[in-house]
Amino acid sequence: MLARSSAAVARDKLARRMPSVPVVLPQHRYAVHIEPNALDRLGGVIREVAPASSAALFADPAVRGTLLPRARASLESAGYEVIEHALPGGEASKTLDGVRALYEVLLSRRFERRSPIVALGGGVTGDMVGFAAATYLRGVPFVQCPTTLLAMVDSSVGGKVGVNVPQGKNLIGAFHQPAVVVADILALRTLPARELACGLAECIKHAVIRDPSLFAWTRANLRALLALDADALTELVARNVAIKAAVVSEDERETGVRAHLNFGHTFAHAIEAVVGYGEILHGEAVALGMLAATTLAISAGLCAPELRGELEAVVAAAGLPVRARLPDDARLLEAMALDKKVSRARIRFVLPTRLGEVQLRDDLEPRAVTAAWASIRL
Ligand code: NAD
Repeated sequence: MLARSSAAVARDKLARRMPSVPVVLPQHRYAVHIEPNALDRLGGVIREVAPASSAALFADPAVRGTLLPRARASLESAGYEVIEHALPGGEASKTLDGVRALYEVLLSRRFERRSPIVALGGGVTGDMVGFAAATYLRGVPFVQCPTTLLAMVDSSVGGKVGVNVPQGKNLIGAFHQPAVVVADILALRTLPARELACGLAECIKHAVIRDPSLFAWTRANLRALLALDADALTELVARNVAIKAAVVSEDERETGVRAHLNFGHTFAHAIEAVVGYGEILHGEAVALGMLAATTLAISAGLCAPELRGELEAVVAAAGLPVRARLPDDARLLEAMALDKKVSRARIRFVLPTRLGEVQLRDDLEPRAVTAAWASIRL
């Protein structure tokens, strides 16, 4: 009930042009502010939730010359002494060594427990800085300023933070909800087109698992979204954050419905593992994974065959791949079996039953899984 009403509140607010979506959890409540130039309000927004004398600002290198000075100016004008530190950036930097470097900065400046740590960047920045915020002095206030579409609609909401280790991605982490999220839509103007498309993959995923009307809206507005129309992007981010917020409110610790967000990910993680991180981007792997999962759902008799065509059309129009060069089945199946989502030796899939609805299944025939891989192989 709570989750539905939070999504409804978000929609009403959007209708009244209030660019803020609430995230309501049993122990936490925070706002996601979404608007062009939102960063100029950053300092004032943080002061409402984490008043202190200083703030740490950790930023992705891609926004060092553009968004970082604006974020810093806003924090300073709200009275914060700013401890600034530029991160190396990139998935390879999201490590325990990367977090250790952040601890060093904070410890050397005697950063205090009530002071906020601000992450300005994409999901890599948010995950790593968030893990530092979750663990430094056993947890300090954390503020997410997502600057990629993926981070705005997905990683900045829900409190999952963490780092990669040689054994796998995101295996060390914590749940640490942000005190507030500030998404400046104009940040997306400098984002490479390939990264924008990756964010769109997560938006398409949200629509398929939860909201047929969002699927239709995204399809109808793709041209405006790809042209970086600010109104279209603001609506896209707000509607997707409302979905992520609703799912997380229902299941903060991923014991149930939050697993639906893994639609496409069982295939995607295997693709990333065998093709190599960086070669294929996460959103691209998710796009392929959603198509493979839909093929699997059709062969299991779970959904109508037309869904595959509808999904492929939107994925392709968003600039995402619908097929890729993949290694042989044995390597792909082995990579799937190593994934975190394997439970009691069975590979678990999130499969669509129709637009807006999915089911968790771990009883699929190996032959059907192989056919699903074939459907996305170039
Ligand atoms: P990213 O943070 O690496 O950003 C992608 C690229 O865009 C980088 O090269 C970055 O330097 C650049 N960039 C960022 N903002 C920019 C801007 N405004 N203009 C120009 N360039 C910009 O990647 P991402 O796709 O944002 O996030 C992926 C990460 O998120 C992965 O590590 C993944 O595990 C994590 N993730 C976490 C969650 C979660 O719930 N915590 C959910 C999904 C993904």
